[in-house]
Amino acid sequence: MSTKAFNAFEMAQTQFDKVAELLNLDQGTRDLLRQPMREFHFNIPVRMDDGTVQVFRGFRVQHNDARGPAKGGIRFHPMETIDTVRALAMWMCWKTAVVDIPLGGSKGGVICDPHNLSVRELEHIARGWVRQIAQNIGPLSDVPAPDVMTSPQIMLWMLDEYETIMRAQYPGVITGKPVNMGGSLGRTEATGYGVIYTVREALKQLGMRPDNSIASVQGFGNVAQYAIQLFNQLGGTVICVSCWDQGDSLSYTYRKKDGVSLDQLLGITDRFGGIDKKKAKDLGYEVLPGDAWIEQEADILLPSAIENQITAENVNKISKRVKVIAEGANGPTTPQADEVIQQRGIFLIPDFLANSGGVTCSYFEQVQNAMNYYWQKDEVLGKLDVKMTAAFLAVSELAVRKKLFMRDAAFVIAVSRVAQACRDRGWV
Ligand code: GLU
Repeated sequence: MSTKAFNAFEMAQTQFDKVAELLNLDQGTRDLLRQPMREFHFNIPVRMDDGTVQVFRGFRVQHNDARGPAKGGIRFHPMETIDTVRALAMWMCWKTAVVDIPLGGSKGGVICDPHNLSVRELEHIARGWVRQIAQNIGPLSDVPAPDVMTSPQIMLWMLDEYETIMRAQYPGVITGKPVNMGGSLGRTEATGYGVIYTVREALKQLGMRPDNSIASVQGFGNVAQYAIQLFNQLGGTVICVSCWDQGDSLSYTYRKKDGVSLDQLLGITDRFGGIDKKKAKDLGYEVLPGDAWIEQEADILLPSAIENQITAENVNKISKRVKVIAEGANGPTTPQADEVIQQRGIFLIPDFLANSGGVTCSYFEQVQNAMNYYWQKDEVLGKLDVKMTAAFLAVSELAVRKKLFMRDAAFVIAVSRVAQACRDRGWV
């Protein structure tokens, strides 16, 4: 067991340093890209329902905006740290670059636990976050979106607060809005569906078919739910999902060997993706320890929860049957675990490619907001598929041509694009 606490930003910098070496980047570009351009730390005082005032810590990190306005979600999480937000902002920058949309990368966070907050308290945190940062975000500078434990409703409160401060309508200041309030059809599905578009392409290259493939999923939030939906539509079987249990603060894996039923599980899931353990048992699910998802006899692993889940400690539990790992979450695999996955020849679809469907659809949302004209869902998802498939093929082609691990190939493409934009602007 490693004794050092996991630090996502150190991991992101380690990954970056490796690519900087591969690309032989000059020192100035390295110094610029391994640190955020700007970051904001602030307090959000909130009058709680019991009359007391509680102060929440909020962050926004803008990693780089050379390719376009900074873009990235906001997490509400009890364990949020500035270093996690820094890492996630850097990863957003690579994500918008690899999928080639004209945006930079940023991320925000608030240290809070939405499980223990009322709707009114959540609204005040959301509005308070915007009041602290309103002058430093905007449709042409930095555009937030949903992430872990934030929702379209939270985006709408944030939009409303921003527009109240600015005294005009700015629908493009935030994405992931509800569909009747400037949101895009398909945005809710986009991240999970996008993961499966890339899995579909990977399976083609491996000569495998989704309709006789088995997947094991970690997470049961927005990403996992829609990934399962599309994988099932392609004929694939999901044998288990693993998620957090708010009741006893542990995670569990819910398994049905002939395939979990998405609709059945959705019927016993809370708004944070937590499954009711007792009801799951009654429905005939085996309830296993939280990390059992990683050792299942499956063809595909879909880590779709949070960072730091496949580590040096558990990577060797991955079954010999696993051929593909598609990272729905941001940063689920540590660099040490990555080495093992690479040595074993597993086809890895790295996070910032696999889960880029969310931000790509956010970009489509901004485009629709700017036109004030809205596309049908099929049109949005069709454009999403084209964009993601093209990004996947560019990465896999480079990986084959230069004999690179898929993650390294994706990094080479993304970091080159961002570095080029910095050079073109005369920054480095
Ligand atoms: N939070 C999502 C991500 O990590 C989406 C970001 C966005 O839509 O801007 O990619």
